[in-house]
Parts: sequence; C-alpha cells; structure tokens
Amino acid sequence: MPDTSTASAIPEVPTIEGCDVFVIGGGPAGSTIAALLAQQGRDVVLVEKEHHPRFHIGESLLPANVDLFRRLGVHDQVDAIGMKKWGIEFVSIEHAHRSYVEFADAWDKTMPSAWQVRRSELDELLFRNAATRGARTLEGCKVRDVQFDDSGAIVQAQLEDGSRRTWHARFVVDASGRDTFLGNKLKSKEKNPEHNSTALFGHFRKVRRLEGKREGNISICWFPHGWFWFIPLADGTTSVGAVCWPYYLKQREKPLKDFFFDTIAMCPELADRLKAAELVDDAVHATGNFSYNGTHCTGDRYLMLGDAFAFIDPMFSSGVYLAMHSAFDGADLVATALDRPAEHAKARREFEQMMRKGPREYSWFIYRATNPTIRDMFMHPNNFMRVKEALMSLLAGDIYGSTPMWGGLRRFKMLYYAISWANAKRTWRGWRRHKENIRDMGKLQGETIQNEG
Ligand SMILES: Cc1cc2nc3c(=O)[nH]c(=O)nc-3n(C[C@H](O)[C@H](O)[C@H](O)COP(=O)(O)OP(=O)(O)OC[C@H]3O[C@@H](n4cnc5c(N)ncnc54)[C@H](O)[C@@H]3O)c2cc1C
Repeated sequence: MPDTSTASAIPEVPTIEGCDVFVIGGGPAGSTIAALLAQQGRDVVLVEKEHHPRFHIGESLLPANVDLFRRLGVHDQVDAIGMKKWGIEFVSIEHAHRSYVEFADAWDKTMPSAWQVRRSELDELLFRNAATRGARTLEGCKVRDVQFDDSGAIVQAQLEDGSRRTWHARFVVDASGRDTFLGNKLKSKEKNPEHNSTALFGHFRKVRRLEGKREGNISICWFPHGWFWFIPLADGTTSVGAVCWPYYLKQREKPLKDFFFDTIAMCPELADRLKAAELVDDAVHATGNFSYNGTHCTGDRYLMLGDAFAFIDPMFSSGVYLAMHSAFDGADLVATALDRPAEHAKARREFEQMMRKGPREYSWFIYRATNPTIRDMFMHPNNFMRVKEALMSLLAGDIYGSTPMWGGLRRFKMLYYAISWANAKRTWRGWRRHKENIRDMGKLQGETIQNEG
C-alpha cells in the first residue's frame, strides 16, 4: 500500500507552464502582436478575460489601418464586415452649412478610405487570426498577477471556474486596454492634466443617414458641452455618442437614457436625423474620465501597447490604429529583447518615442477641438499652402510613414495662431472655457454606469 501520510503533508505546487511571450488582453493590440510573434515561430500565449464576440466601443477606423490589416492577412475579412468610410462630416450649431472632407484629399492619395466596424466582430476576427497564426489563445481567463524575475516573469491568471493557471514567460506584453494592468501595478499611469472628458452612447436603428458615397462617413457634431460622433455601421445600425465635459455629466439628475436624449436635442441636426430612430436594446452606456498617459511603456521584460499605455479623446478615431501600430513595432521590440539583447536598450528608447508621438500629434488638435478658431478652420477647410492636405493626412492616420506633410501641419498651426491672435478676445474666452471645461470633478456617476437602460 502506498504511504499517503507524507504526500498529503506536502503543499500543492502549481504547475508552471512555459512560453516565450505572454500577452494580456485580446483586443486589437494584443491580438495583433500575438499573431505577428506566433508567425515568427515563437511560443505565444494570448489571454482575454472575456469571451469573443464581446462588446467594445470605438467603431470608426482610419485609412492608415488598412495596410496593417493587409499585412496581418485579414484585409478581406475586415472589408466583409465593414461600412466603407471615405471622409468626415463636420456639423456645428454655430454654422449654417456642413463641412465635408475626404481622405482622398490627403497629401498621400493612396489611402482614400477606411471602414466603420462593429468592434465585437473586428476584435473577434483579430483574436481568431492570432490563433490561426499559431498563438495559444484562451478566453475567460483574467490575469491577476505578474512578478518579474531575471529570466522573465511569472504570470498568474484566473479562469471562470475560479481555478488558477501559472505561466513562466520570457517576455510579457500588456495589451489590457483601459484596465491598464501593468500601469496600475507599476503606478506608471498619470491622469492627463490637459484634457478630461466622458462619453454617453447608444446604438440606433432607422436613423436618417447621409446619402450616396457619404453614407458611411463619420459625422462629428459640436454641441455646447462637447461633441457627438455619428458612425453608420454596415448592418443599418448607427452608433451615436456624446463626448462631453465631466461637469456636464455630473449635473445629471435624470435616468441616463433621458439625459442622453436631452443631450441629443442640443444638436438640432443630429436630433433631426434621429427623429424616427429606435434605440437598440433600450440601452445607453456611459464611460467616465478618460485621458491618461504612462510615464513609460517598456522594461527589460515587458512592454505596454495601445490603451494599456495611453488614452486620448476619441475625436479623431485614432485609438484602434495607434493600438495596432504599437503592436507592429512592439513585435520588433520583443524580437530584439529575446534575440539581440545588446540592442534592446536603443530599441526601447525608439519605441518609447514612437508611443508618445501618436498621442502628442492628435492631442494638439484635441485640446483645441472646441476652440472657435479650430472649429472655424474645420468648417471652412482651405488648402492654402497645402494645409488641408496635411491635415487630412493626420486625420487619415498617416503619421508614422514618410509622407512629407509635417511642414503643411506647421503652417496649419501658424495659421491657427495668427487667426487666434487676430481674434484675441474670442481666443481668450475660448481658452478660459477650456480650462473650466476640463476641471477635475472627482469620481463621476458615469464611471459606475454601464448598460443602464
Ligand atoms: C467612448 C470611446 C469612443 C471611441 N471611439 C473610437 C473610434 O471611433 N475609433 C477608434 O479607433 N478608437 C476609438 N476609441 C478607442 C479604442 O476603443 C481603443 O483605443 C482601442 O480599443 C484600443 O485597443 P487595445 O487593444 O489597446 O485595448 P482594448 O480594445 O480595450 O482591448 C483590451 C482587452 O484586454 C482585456 N483585458 C483587460 N484586462 C485583462 C486582464 N487582466 N486579463 C485578461 N484580459 C484583460 C479586455 O477585456 C479587452 O478585451 C474609443 C474609445 C472610447 C472610450
């Protein structure tokens, strides 16, 4: 008979599984880097705490993303679920006309369109693609802890039945989005002092859309407390959201749905398009304060991608592109860390710079987006000294390539300063209003509201 007395006295040691790279989070950033690294022949584990298809907001893509889909081998799949987006419509309650701009008018004319997508579909497609390329994928698996050591990290995750799994990874990629898993652990996440906004959104059927080629365009509609997005999806549903200043959401005394409809009524053009509309599932969502940066995004054995590092206001629909672009560059950085450690320090510095560039370039516009001068310039786009072409390149996401549009963007900014100077009183009032708008309101009701009907 075997002696069980000693066996029961020994504490259970968790099985530690091994892998080269452990990726936390199966959104666009995580699924992209997992696919690329698995394709290089590395042993990659990609875990997602939810199950695909899962809801996510952020449905408007940029033309620069198209090439990334092509390089990932999923271009045709995205095309099949997407609504073609050729440009942007700007609507302002202070202007009688509407302004239309097209990506085909950018400096580089070879990226004229993108898509609007349901994120549940896009994110599932990217996640499954990572598995097809060889990554070991796991859903319903939430990472609880990461402890770094000289040879990598021990990662602990919890499954839905409460059981735990432990891995030893040579490298960890944090792509946990706004959960900012490593940012919280390392206390490297900082609130952006220059910007502060919140969002209310819902999906509608039977909405009046733009006609013809413009049907799939995104509309940006300013209103007194922020701006709206209007994003037409391929199945006939339209996503409508208000990005508003925290003080405005704080004033809410009504159920979220009534408050959202009151907000829509402040933008007559939008209200008119939604006159006969039905709110899908009777659901309005809210999300609280959302602008932050990380102090850094790389370490000896880790890197942070996409929203896990920084989040900026979604006015220019840059989030998915910045997340996926960071994954492409991140895959090179991981390869350097694992294969050519002597070059890692230099590669880290370059990666850190790249990660700051995107948020920085868009933020200049975001901080001024409700300023009357910028609004006038967007409502009367003018290609004087190629400034419109340069602006359209930025709006297309063409910021990491070799397109020589930076001089044009500088001229755009100089024009902005000249017009602001010439309208000094209005500029001063706009600046004061911006400071008031972004004041810290503490924790918002909106941060706790999800799926309130
Ligand atoms: C209101 C709003 C509107 C937006 N509109 C747009 C838009 O129109 N266009 C655009 O491009 N972007 C938009 N964005 C931004 C865009 O959604 C994000 O930038 C993008 O999703 C970032 O991708 P990501 O892969 O970094 O993170 P995510 O897409 O958030 O993916 C992170 C994943 O990690 C998982 N996860 C988190 N923690 C763990 C854990 N501990 N263990 C396992 N898994 C975990 C999450 O479940 C999630 O699936 C918007 C954002 C907001 C808030």
